[in-house]
Amino acid sequence: MKIVKTVHLSKIYRGGVEVHALSDVNFELEKGDLVAIIGDSGSGKSTLLHLLAGVDKPTDGDIFIQDKNIAKLSKDALTVFRRRNIGVIYQFFNLIPNIDVRKNILLPILLDDKHPDEDYLREILSILGIGEKLDRYPKQLSGGEQQRVAIARSLITRPALVLADEPTGNLDRRNSEEIIGLFQLVNKRLNSTIAIITHDEKVANACHKVYRMTDGRLSLLGDDAHENYS
Ligand code: ADP
Ligand code: MG
Repeated sequence: MKIVKTVHLSKIYRGGVEVHALSDVNFELEKGDLVAIIGDSGSGKSTLLHLLAGVDKPTDGDIFIQDKNIAKLSKDALTVFRRRNIGVIYQFFNLIPNIDVRKNILLPILLDDKHPDEDYLREILSILGIGEKLDRYPKQLSGGEQQRVAIARSLITRPALVLADEPTGNLDRRNSEEIIGLFQLVNKRLNSTIAIITHDEKVANACHKVYRMTDGRLSLLGDDAHENYS
């Protein structure tokens, strides 16, 4: 089943000098894909992630997420769609400091006035190994633990798509390796569809496919998970 399909996607930032951040990007993800997107700083990786996440709108082209063209949604409809269907994980975790771990994880559900599915919450906590941390506050957690909480939050709505922007960029090697392992485990156990932007070749090597962004153009590097993409 197709989860993502972009068609002739482009993004130009205007304001002073025009920046052609994305040019004619045609990107597809099937259900259960685990892919990495690598590329130099400034090549357009985060721009693509923001468009897929519905945080920003393209200049041109279409973005189908499970057959819904989110490039055509109004701002309000996009906000709701994003909250229900897309999980995002950032380099600096972006947890809310003054609420505990349980509330941080459940936030997308609570904002939607829905009741949490406690069985599913327990399943996520067990996959991510943070079941004992629910009463803590973010500042009482290590970086690796905070990122696990952020991953749990990204999964709580059973999103169609999980997007991560440099998820290991702020972690030491041991924690990075653990987080990579967790993305693989989540992908396997929940059949989640995951795209990870990364500079980390270990992350890229753990994915099924690797794409490279070069000056706003996306190309597939290979789909052999054992190749080395450094
Ligand atoms: P990457 O994530 O690969 O480092 P980005 O997608 O953040 O790259 O940026 C791609 C290009 O678009 C860069 O030249 C960057 O300076 C520019 N850019 C990113 N965001 C904006 C913005 N909000 N306004 C103007 N230019 C931007
Ligand atoms: Mg970036």
